[in-house]
Amino acid sequence: MIKKKQNRVSKGGVNLFGTYTIHFCNIVEEISSDNPPELFNFALPNKQQVKNIIVALCPTEPWALPNWVALGHKTKVFLDKIKEIKTAHFPEAKCFVVINNNETEHIAAAKEYAVTNEWMEVFVIEAKYPHDDPVVLSKAILNTEVNFGQDTLSQGILFLDAQTISAIHKSRVLNKNVDSRFIALSGTGLKENEFANVQLGTSIEKILKNRLKESSHCRVFVNGPLRGKEIKDFTQKIDWTVNNIVVLEALDKKVMFPMINTDRLHFTTNLLGELRTCVYCNFCDDICPVDLEPALYYHCYKRGEKQKARLYNMGKCIECGLCSFVCPSKIELLGIIKECKLPD
Ligand code: SF4
Ligand code: SF4
Repeated sequence: MIKKKQNRVSKGGVNLFGTYTIHFCNIVEEISSDNPPELFNFALPNKQQVKNIIVALCPTEPWALPNWVALGHKTKVFLDKIKEIKTAHFPEAKCFVVINNNETEHIAAAKEYAVTNEWMEVFVIEAKYPHDDPVVLSKAILNTEVNFGQDTLSQGILFLDAQTISAIHKSRVLNKNVDSRFIALSGTGLKENEFANVQLGTSIEKILKNRLKESSHCRVFVNGPLRGKEIKDFTQKIDWTVNNIVVLEALDKKVMFPMINTDRLHFTTNLLGELRTCVYCNFCDDICPVDLEPALYYHCYKRGEKQKARLYNMGKCIECGLCSFVCPSKIELLGIIKECKLPD
């Protein structure tokens, strides 16, 4: 079945591709582990658990792995893989393939495929961060509420990305070992933005060796600076959940009103610099994809009322970090929210 119109997923969100452009080198580097590679070990749920499969071909972060690396230009081959996995493991499940509206080649191929495959529906969305989030897509496609941090499987939804589909197909349908994955490497702290095919079990230290700019103090994030995790231990190894590594130079000053003074939003780490106060602009409230009021949390926090902050639906926060990203005072709103969520 085909949805004719592009779907509006949620309010808020931001087109990060338009505000933070990254140019990648098109050559995919091979990086091998110093030790025997580890194997892809995804535990496939049983068929009773899975009622719907959401395949997210809709990266909304410019540092994420693009579809052309994960799929090549072989959309039909990829859709055949989904079909074989579904037939073998989840024959009753309905499948939703979510694609960004600018991926015209994949959309056309998927829509053609869906004509003769009733089990599959094509869902086209605007590439707005964080509209590819499992909480947001589960609500938009299936009208199902999933709490942040909750496994979507508890609601019968198997949520997969392109690389995981290919790895499941190779390991569970073709019965071959999967011991590597594509990773996007980018950021102001690197000499070059590039893609790499990395053996599982390779350390981050080895991946970044000779790639960091000399003389810069950097912060390193796995799976993005907004939703991912900052890492300090570079001996940490790559597993199959890693899609990108972002290395940002740690700036020591803040940029005053970045969206007003420049034609492009700057992504800064703002480690140091003066603390500014809230200017009541409401940018954070307007951008929040799940209708929260981050400024309210900030003001409660400043008054030492973390418990009060939790009263205003804080549990719904999907920790996308957009509020911190747009705040002109560069208040670390997500950091404050995470602190407020902790028990007193
Ligand atoms: S309050 Fe939570 S969900 Fe809303 S923008 Fe901030 S981090 Fe994202
Ligand atoms: S974006 Fe920042 S300055 Fe504006 S209302 Fe929110 S916390 Fe205050």
